[in-house]
Amino acid sequence: MSIDWHERARLLTPDTRAFINGRQHTTDGTFTTTSLANTSLANDGLEIAECSDHDVDLAVKSARSAFDDGRWRDLPPAARKQRMLAFADLIDLNREELALLETIDVGKPIGESLRVDAPSAAKTVRWYAEAIDKRYDEIAPTTPDAIALVTREPLGVIGAVVPWNYPMIISMWKVAPALAMGNSVVLKPAEQSPLTAIALANLASQAGIPDGVFSVIPGLGPTTGRALGLHPQVDKIAFTGSPETGARFLAYASESNLKQVALELGGKSPHVILSDAHDLASIAETIAWGIFYNAGQTCHAGSRVIVHPDHQDELIEHLQTFLRDFPVGDPLSETTSMGPLVDSTQLETVGRYVTIALEDGGSIAAQTPVAKEGTFYPPTVLTDVPANSRAVREEIFGPVLIIETAPDDDSAVAAANDTDYGLAAAVWSRDIGRANRVARRIRAGTVWINTFDAADITTPFGGFGRSGFGRDRSLHALDSYSALKTTWTDISH
Ligand code: NAD
Repeated sequence: MSIDWHERARLLTPDTRAFINGRQHTTDGTFTTTSLANTSLANDGLEIAECSDHDVDLAVKSARSAFDDGRWRDLPPAARKQRMLAFADLIDLNREELALLETIDVGKPIGESLRVDAPSAAKTVRWYAEAIDKRYDEIAPTTPDAIALVTREPLGVIGAVVPWNYPMIISMWKVAPALAMGNSVVLKPAEQSPLTAIALANLASQAGIPDGVFSVIPGLGPTTGRALGLHPQVDKIAFTGSPETGARFLAYASESNLKQVALELGGKSPHVILSDAHDLASIAETIAWGIFYNAGQTCHAGSRVIVHPDHQDELIEHLQTFLRDFPVGDPLSETTSMGPLVDSTQLETVGRYVTIALEDGGSIAAQTPVAKEGTFYPPTVLTDVPANSRAVREEIFGPVLIIETAPDDDSAVAAANDTDYGLAAAVWSRDIGRANRVARRIRAGTVWINTFDAADITTPFGGFGRSGFGRDRSLHALDSYSALKTTWTDISH
């Protein structure tokens, strides 16, 4: 039976309070989020708790007490695992509501929120839960008169600060491994997308995650986010967002307690299509999904194509065909593939970059017409934009694809690496050896060969250069929420 998502949205009464120390927390101040889902909520906006320095302090101190008294980290690993599995089950059970909250906040098509974002959040929590009682620590090969244990100790209080483009997915990439290692977490969602974070904290509490271990502090970046970044009792900030804000968190750390900082930042990911690539129709379709999914608001979106000149015309024809019937529209309709941009600021930014590209000599090779109402930007393919244009060099974070050409592998690699970013890339070639040789030379945290955006919780994700440092996902993420400790015992007497 199909769900009437508009009706569901109309009946929804989201919790807009902070969640601190195991309970809902009403703040003195609020801020307004605007929803794009064209529901009754959309017109009014929602008043969301705005956490002050005092509220942030409460959340961090409760996280610190929970860590210090061992109510979570000292539970037997199997018990922590069970509670995190219960949390994952509750996410699955509530996936329709979580998906709707996500779509209402950010305009993401409901079909994607339901089939990708909510299940992915549950899967991440389940995967790290399962890891808890399956990893061993080490005994160092010292001299026979000693036993030296090398153990992974949780860091303490983790401040997780996340953006609005994949709120549930990115939050759980940080919260789940941090909790699995026994840390406490204070999560600061983006101002555009607080609703699922608040709901998730409530579910975690219902699942038996103890008070203070997982709190959510909605608020504005320069106030709430800053207070978390500067807090002397936070041991690590796990951040995803823009390079500019990432730099601020490094400054907050140096101005406060030298807390650790991990930064997952933006990207300008290139596809490299070599001369021997075949089946351009299917390549074009993959490229189109890689830039138009989530309206291009994806950090690793494949926003550049570097194609052998022989293939350029055919590739553009296929992209034109793809865009002709691309369903852009109401995010509460399950047949929509692309919704609006998150807000009017983002709409202005994307429009500005396309103007720059055109002023610099670029031209529009394909575009899908969209509704004028709302913050929709038409999916757009550009050619002839000079390599030094800001549109080629900077992250647009919208549904805009720029096509460049390169006549041989060396110049394709040079063009791919001619960026300050280094998050992801793709290489297309029939010759797997050649594709791997090119992939090796591209400086990016992930390089796909003959595919794009294939991902799994088992593989690390993060970047080089202006894309930041630190890796989410995989068992390696557990190491980033722990520190090695040596316990040396003299057994000679
Ligand atoms: P943003 O940097 O503006 O905001 C991210 C978070 O930081 C939000 O929670 C925000 O409230 C907070 N913040 C903003 N200003 C702050 C300040 N002065 N002090 C403390 N906190 C502050 O980024 P955004 O616009 O929400 O997200 C888009 C960016 O995120 C893009 O650059 C995108 O590429 C990047 N991103 C990267 C990844 C990745 O994994 N590499 C994933 C998703 C998004």
